[in-house]
Amino acid sequence: MKKKHLFWLLLPTYWLLMAIAIVVIAFYAFHSMSNLYFQALENDIRTRATLFAEEVAPVIREGDEAQIDALCKRIGESVQTRFTIIMPDGTVTGDSSEDPDMMENHRARPEAIAAFGGDAGMDRRYSRTLKQEMIYLAIPLKDESNRVLCAVRAALPMTSIQAELHTMTRRVLTASVLAGLLAMLICVGVVRRITTPLRGMDLAARRFAEGDFTHRIPPHPALELDQLATSLNSMSEQLNKTVSTVIEQRNEQNAVLSSMDEGVLAIDRRERIIHMNRVAGIILGVNHHDSKRQLMQHVVRFVNLQEFIKAALSSQSPLKRDLSLIGTPQKQIQASGTVLRNADEESIGALIVLRDVTQLRHLETVRSDFIANVSHELKTPITSIKGFVETLLSDDWNHSEDILRFLNIINQQAGRLNSIIDDLLTLSRLERKNGCLRETIRPTNLATVINSAIDLCQIKASENNITVDMVCPENLIIPVNGPLIEQALVNLIVNAVKYSETGKKVKIIAEEHLDKVTIEVRDQGFGIENKHLDRLFERFYRIDAARSRTLGGTGLGLSIVKHIVQAHRGSIQVESTVGIGSAFTIQLPLAEPTE
Ligand code: ADP
Repeated sequence: MKKKHLFWLLLPTYWLLMAIAIVVIAFYAFHSMSNLYFQALENDIRTRATLFAEEVAPVIREGDEAQIDALCKRIGESVQTRFTIIMPDGTVTGDSSEDPDMMENHRARPEAIAAFGGDAGMDRRYSRTLKQEMIYLAIPLKDESNRVLCAVRAALPMTSIQAELHTMTRRVLTASVLAGLLAMLICVGVVRRITTPLRGMDLAARRFAEGDFTHRIPPHPALELDQLATSLNSMSEQLNKTVSTVIEQRNEQNAVLSSMDEGVLAIDRRERIIHMNRVAGIILGVNHHDSKRQLMQHVVRFVNLQEFIKAALSSQSPLKRDLSLIGTPQKQIQASGTVLRNADEESIGALIVLRDVTQLRHLETVRSDFIANVSHELKTPITSIKGFVETLLSDDWNHSEDILRFLNIINQQAGRLNSIIDDLLTLSRLERKNGCLRETIRPTNLATVINSAIDLCQIKASENNITVDMVCPENLIIPVNGPLIEQALVNLIVNAVKYSETGKKVKIIAEEHLDKVTIEVRDQGFGIENKHLDRLFERFYRIDAARSRTLGGTGLGLSIVKHIVQAHRGSIQVESTVGIGSAFTIQLPLAEPTE
């Protein structure tokens, strides 16, 4: 529907109301005035008729018709009034304007009928005798016995009053038209007074909508419009504050995001980029300003990262993955993905955080290579030292007691050094294998692996008079690298034996769950204080270094276990109570690792 201006909606209504008011007033005024005129005329003619009746009464009583007529003519002429004397039979005996003998019977005239009925009668009509509109008033003239002798009729022409009425009509019409025109102009003014401030407010509201909050609507004398103006002004102030806060927050957020060392990528459910910070642009090799609202596939060219983002979008739990971005130069990144939620906690996409760990990985490789190289370099001299010392310790030499003691110390320390080097080499092998462990994974019978680990520790356990038991479903087959899991179990069993008093028990319990296998190594040993549990799997972390050393520990056993478990995408937990014992639980997934 075509919208009209309020001005054109209001104005015709106002005009119509004004026109109706003016017509009603004009009509009423005209009506009242003409009534007033006729009333005055009536009174006038009544007075003339009464006075004439008194004048003519004696003559009528005498019955001299010629005199009656002469009196009618004489007085009629002097007061400019037509007088007629009508007898009860309707004959006219005197008339100021005509010869009574020539006049027709007046018995049927309305005013005569009323007069002969005893009352004054009045009528307005066209006089065929005088050829003009006339007003007639007849009053009865009675004798002593109240009998109507005749009707005395006075008549006045309507011409003057009609002329007066015409003039008055013209004046009323002119006044009405003028008043109408004036009213129309006033209406235009009144409507303008309503619509102009509204238009001003409309313009102001548009400026507010365009973000110009400096504009203010001036106060208005009309209370409602003034209140509206005040409300709009305060709404603008409020909007200004809100918009400023939002801009400030956005700038702060942008500043925070762009100063971050990590790349941040927000993706909506339709895989469009909501936000990308500067560092993410650098990592992905794109301009972060141009990527907004673009499809993730158009911006992120790396297939493995695209797959990770898709996985993060469909996953309800946080994801973390190390990815290589193939390009020049090749980048190593650590990607974390979490669900992005709105204020109503509904998922609206995913938040991806990218950390460029190329340098870190490079340093790790350098460190790992260094340790591997040093270990390799040390391995040969230590082996030969150990070999020669063992030769010197043989019975053939006949050493003095002191030399024998020294040689034993050298042998013991060389043995320790050899163990450390072995463990270090194992760790660096594990670190290197980490990526390509998948190829070495085979379906393996877990009971066999545990049994073989127990066998390897049996001598040490027997030395300490410790029994090692195991509970494991016989046919439990899991996808693992058997020798590595065996080594992890050996390390845990050796620790359980080492850190227990003689005569205690060690139990290994393996259980199959829905999607994983747990292997628990429980001992009744010294236990570990809670404060050490977090750092237990760090390299060379030992609770009591002296005791560990005495017992032949390297401080690397648990670190190796952790690496082996992680290489299988599993996890390890420890629970321990001082004086009661410890339980190390390995969890391994039943599904074969995909990457
Ligand atoms: P270590 O060669 O010294 O045994 P590990 O890495 O194997 O090195 O263990 C780290 C430290 O954890 C040990 O020095 C020891 O103090 C503690 N620990 C490991 N296993 C046990 C256990 N079963 N009971 C008590 N303490 C343990």
